[in-house]
Amino acid sequence: MFNASVGEIIWVLGIVAWYVIRYPFERRARRVQVARTARTLSDRIGLATAFFGLAIVPGFYLATGIPKAADYAPYPVAIILGTFTMLLGLWVFRRSHKELGRNWSITLEIREKHKLVSSGPYALVRHPMYTSFLLIALGQAFLLANWVAGLAGLAGFAILFFLRVNKEERMMLENFGPEYRDYMERTKRLIPYLY
Ligand code: SAH
Repeated sequence: MFNASVGEIIWVLGIVAWYVIRYPFERRARRVQVARTARTLSDRIGLATAFFGLAIVPGFYLATGIPKAADYAPYPVAIILGTFTMLLGLWVFRRSHKELGRNWSITLEIREKHKLVSSGPYALVRHPMYTSFLLIALGQAFLLANWVAGLAGLAGFAILFFLRVNKEERMMLENFGPEYRDYMERTKRLIPYLY
């Protein structure tokens, strides 16, 4: 029981930190003109699913304990691993937001005077912000000793990522042409040197 609540508290702190990092970018994004949008139904579904898996399902679990049947005894080593992955995810999240700056959008959009960013974390992978979501979802899986609430984040992430990534790269290719093609040749998608 003690370990279960430690993991839960760390998860809540992680989610709060996540929002504190994102909020200023959301505010700024409202002021930057959008030149082109690819905000489609499938992208909305992806975003809603990710939110459901990374916030609603675990939040509901913490508030109600449902689904109780999916609880398991927590392992201290999982809490340590989860804390580490969550912190790493938050750090990558902050770094990639800073690097992307005014080019960031919650959905697929090209902003006025959009620049191709290929520095900082973007020098290693094309989608470091999605890498950070993967790390945060892994953190959730380690921190919450419940199969459903723990794994919901990874499921939500996977749905958003696979609904979006091809479209995002196509949109970037249409806009930046050879510059993005070169960039694709130099980088992996999500995990440095691997994928
Ligand atoms: N997929 C990236 C960015 C997510 S935010 C990541 O995971 O880090 C989504 C917006 O970022 C898209 O609307 C796109 O316009 C913009 N974007 C994606 N990659 C970019 C890059 N390398 N340079 C500039 N903007 C980029």
